[in-house]
Amino acid sequence: MKRKWEVADVENQSHEYDIVVIGCGPAGLSAAVNAKARNKSVLVAGGQLCSPKLQRAPIINNYLGFPGITGEKLRQAFISHAQKAQIPINTCRVSGVIPQGNKFIVQTDTMGPIQAGAVVLAIGVTSQETLPGEKQFLGRGVSYCATCDGMFFRGKKVAVVAYYNKGEDEAKLLSQICEKVYFVPQYKEPVVEGLGQNVEVVKGLPTGITGEKTVEFLLLEQERLAVNGIFIIRETIPVSQLVPGIQLSGSFIEVDSTMATAVPGVYAAGDCVGEPFQLAKAVGQGQVAALSAAKYLSSM
Ligand SMILES: Cc1cc2nc3c(=O)[nH]c(=O)nc-3n(C[C@H](O)[C@H](O)[C@H](O)COP(=O)(O)OP(=O)(O)OC[C@H]3O[C@@H](n4cnc5c(N)ncnc54)[C@H](O)[C@@H]3O)c2cc1C
Repeated sequence: MKRKWEVADVENQSHEYDIVVIGCGPAGLSAAVNAKARNKSVLVAGGQLCSPKLQRAPIINNYLGFPGITGEKLRQAFISHAQKAQIPINTCRVSGVIPQGNKFIVQTDTMGPIQAGAVVLAIGVTSQETLPGEKQFLGRGVSYCATCDGMFFRGKKVAVVAYYNKGEDEAKLLSQICEKVYFVPQYKEPVVEGLGQNVEVVKGLPTGITGEKTVEFLLLEQERLAVNGIFIIRETIPVSQLVPGIQLSGSFIEVDSTMATAVPGVYAAGDCVGEPFQLAKAVGQGQVAALSAAKYLSSM
């Protein structure tokens, strides 16, 4: 059943938007509301619905006008605002932003490819490090999206390293394509039953990826799994892997005062562009990014 805020596909079957906002936290929703106010068609490709971080904040005392509000209450207010503005939000996970002519193809796990005139990255930050070998084998056996790349591994053996339970959906999908799927969960909740007869749940901490030209082994602390492909499912994909050509400053996306990144047409806002990791700053930057993206589209 569709949740009521997930109205995007119903209204826009062609999956073409002026602006696609990646990330559904305070920065992303602020960008979306402001893009809509500029009369742009906008989609939030959101990952988890409005920020697990905000949900965890017990009391917020520094967001103007709402002293003492809980993170969950503010989160609900943000979602409600986006609903009132009729912003389509889809909780898909984005695995790549590929320039195509003067547009972008945004690759998602559940909506397929989406076309965008401009993109706002509002993906927050994650403390998760990449695995040794992960960057080296990206596109040579390492993938972040079963929908996008699963068919390359038809009849082969793959591993799914899942840092949250969304990985279970990816494992189910791969079980229909691949000969064997090793599911390696890295989260505390129990794994659901019935992932597929050819899916084996393997407990263990991944320590690296090895191979000659392409992936051959997923290394765990106690064993190694012989595989042709490894799907790594994190809440956040390392940004350098998400958008080719993006410039980083340390681990943050480099932006100018208009929130423009090094890739024309791609803007960024919130925690992903650096400290301070604060709500008001994320919301403000989301607005600037959306207005800049709207101006960019008008200049095309
Ligand atoms: C416990 C706690 C308490 C806090 N208290 C305060 C406080 O009192 N005051 C204050 O100002 N700030 C506080 N913060 C910080 C505040 O929550 C963050 O600064 C704010 O949430 C940043 O917003 P954001 O939109 O940049 O990123 P986030 O809120 O992290 O949102 C990022 C979104 O992007 C999505 N995403 C990531 N990758 C992808 C992808 N590949 N595809 C699709 N979606 C993706 C995620 O699922 C998420 O929904 C607190 C944070 C925590 C954890």
